[in-house]
Amino acid sequence: MKKAFFFDRDGIVNIRLINQYVKNISEFHFLDGFIDLFNLVIEKGFIPIVITNQQGVGKGLMSEKDLLEIHNFMQKSLFEITKNQFADIIYCTDTKDKNSPRRKPEPGMIIEAIDTWGIDATESWMIGDSISDVIAGYKANTNTILIGNYIEEEAKDASFIFKNIFDAIEFVKTLEN
Ligand SMILES: [Mg+2]
Repeated sequence: MKKAFFFDRDGIVNIRLINQYVKNISEFHFLDGFIDLFNLVIEKGFIPIVITNQQGVGKGLMSEKDLLEIHNFMQKSLFEITKNQFADIIYCTDTKDKNSPRRKPEPGMIIEAIDTWGIDATESWMIGDSISDVIAGYKANTNTILIGNYIEEEAKDASFIFKNIFDAIEFVKTLEN
């Protein structure tokens, strides 16, 4: 069965802006280490898929077209650098107050990807920099990696916590192909 690596976007794929949304391509910059992680994940046979909350659209701070433009730019840049791209980009534009079953920490988007791609969740990973990422992964039955200065007690659903993406890369190297 196929296995996937699910990537949270802001804070993992690209540099997260503090208290604001990435609204156009000039604000989109790959996070240091992400490209190495992406190449490694491909090498290990995972299908790379983005799972991202984008409530900036729901709040009217940017349009869905702006979001798609950013994602086209991300894919094009990624292909130029690695000759690979994300297989899928799944996003939720609902605001938090809508209690959408798709919006992380709910697992809807991950489950959608699992169904679409015929993925074995137990062989797959969700990586993110928010606790809501690992809760969503846990609920969808994937393994989870949380990046940041967290302690175990505050992130019980994380399979592993690493301070930064470079430590996560060293760990992913140890996973079976
Ligand atoms: Mg994030």
